[in-house]
Amino acid sequence: MSAQFPVLGFIQAAYFAVAVVFILGLKAMSSPVTARRGVVWAGYAMIAATLVTFAWPGMQNFGLMALAIALGTVVAWVSGKKVAMTDMPQMVAIYNGMGGGAAAAIAALEFARGEVHGGVATTLAVCGALIGSVAFSGSCVAFAKLQGIMKKAWRLPAQNAANVLLALAAVALGYLIVAADSPAPEHVLGFFALALALGVVLTVPIGGADMPVVISLLNAFTGLAVGMEGYVLGNPALIVAGIVVGASGTLLTQLMAKAMNRPISNVIFTPISGAASGGEAVEGEQKEVGAMDAAAVMRYASKVIIVPGYGMAVAGAQHKVWEMTELLEEAGVEVSFAIHPVAGRMPGHMNVLLAEAGVPYDKIFDLEEINGDFPQADVALVIGANDVVNPSARTDKSSPIFGMPILNADLAQNVIVVKRGKGTGYSGIENALFYKDNTRLLYGSAQQAIGEVIQHVKALSV
Ligand code: NDP
Repeated sequence: MSAQFPVLGFIQAAYFAVAVVFILGLKAMSSPVTARRGVVWAGYAMIAATLVTFAWPGMQNFGLMALAIALGTVVAWVSGKKVAMTDMPQMVAIYNGMGGGAAAAIAALEFARGEVHGGVATTLAVCGALIGSVAFSGSCVAFAKLQGIMKKAWRLPAQNAANVLLALAAVALGYLIVAADSPAPEHVLGFFALALALGVVLTVPIGGADMPVVISLLNAFTGLAVGMEGYVLGNPALIVAGIVVGASGTLLTQLMAKAMNRPISNVIFTPISGAASGGEAVEGEQKEVGAMDAAAVMRYASKVIIVPGYGMAVAGAQHKVWEMTELLEEAGVEVSFAIHPVAGRMPGHMNVLLAEAGVPYDKIFDLEEINGDFPQADVALVIGANDVVNPSARTDKSSPIFGMPILNADLAQNVIVVKRGKGTGYSGIENALFYKDNTRLLYGSAQQAIGEVIQHVKALSV
């Protein structure tokens, strides 16, 4: 026993140090300049936390632990190497789900071992299991939707009533588990089945533009669940990491909901479905422009604002876009980038791509910083963006994205939109911007279209 105390003290001190490094890592992630460093620190801290756990007094099953770690490492390494930048949201969704599932599994194991007997620990174990299970099954559904495996967003006839009933039933069984000295297995099984079903039923009707908010919310859920199970296990690293994830996930959820003008309650209880309909019919026709004319308008402009969107990411056109920007700047054009908070398919998607291509951070502006500049811009160049520049969000009350703050590209003197054809954006609705008098469409995949523009800018500059 006496030999255990120093070991336990060492392990707890190591967990505490790990928690501090997690927080420092997170702090470093708040700036693109130090973000990479932050991720590496947090990764090393995670390895340290995993290793010291092997020294826990009485720990057994080392072979199984090593096997689980090896399996997890291989899957994460291979998928991390292979995943395309555009598929990152579903990757985040599924990894987040694993965290929630792990928290729920901890609780399940503690119930099975009869390790928790009433009081605060059992209450937190039950709460963590409920929230973790919802995060797990909800994240699996979010993954399936973003991956295109689950295409339909269906709603039950009395969806909200079903949600409330399921939640109440799960809470009731949770209460029975807390109240019992030794919980009945059927209560525990029923509780987990209901909690998992709740995650599915809550997430399945949600689609389209609301999915990023849901993933972020489920991420906050996972953090909370992990923090609660950390208390049950007496593990400070889990408690701190869980609380940090829960708090940052909640803040990010609020930020994104604000960026889409969708109250969180509204996202969950009255979601927009995947291929949204609604909104006034858009009249007129799209007017095409060739790469040469597009290049000339920009080459002789004073100020160009580039609005990148999901299409630029799919096409992997960020390097070409930066090459074009450098040429325009050499010709004396002032070029800046306008980033909508939910452009692309995950928060920060465009910032990451542009940084990867070498675009300096002082050329990249958030919506609030740059929206007032569009009327002074000679050209707004929209590359594979759609929903985030749809002016109906400002004016058309019947539009499913009404109220979502958008980048005011339509207020520029000229708008050039690079896209392949007449495809709609993620929300599935038509975009009035593409039919405006000052808008011209440069059809083509972003990489190839911008490549042609580059050739013409070069020709105009000799
Ligand atoms: P959108 O998804 O609204 O539009 C993308 C446009 O890109 C389409 O109109 C498409 O038109 C065009 N496109 C596709 N492929 C190419 C290509 N190879 N070259 C050129 N153009 C291409 O993108 P936005 O960035 O404007 O908006 C993001 C949307 O995604 C929002 O609705 C947001 O809510 C949602 N979302 C955001 C997440 C986030 O966290 N950032 C996560 C999940 C969803 P065409 O087919 O004609 O080429």
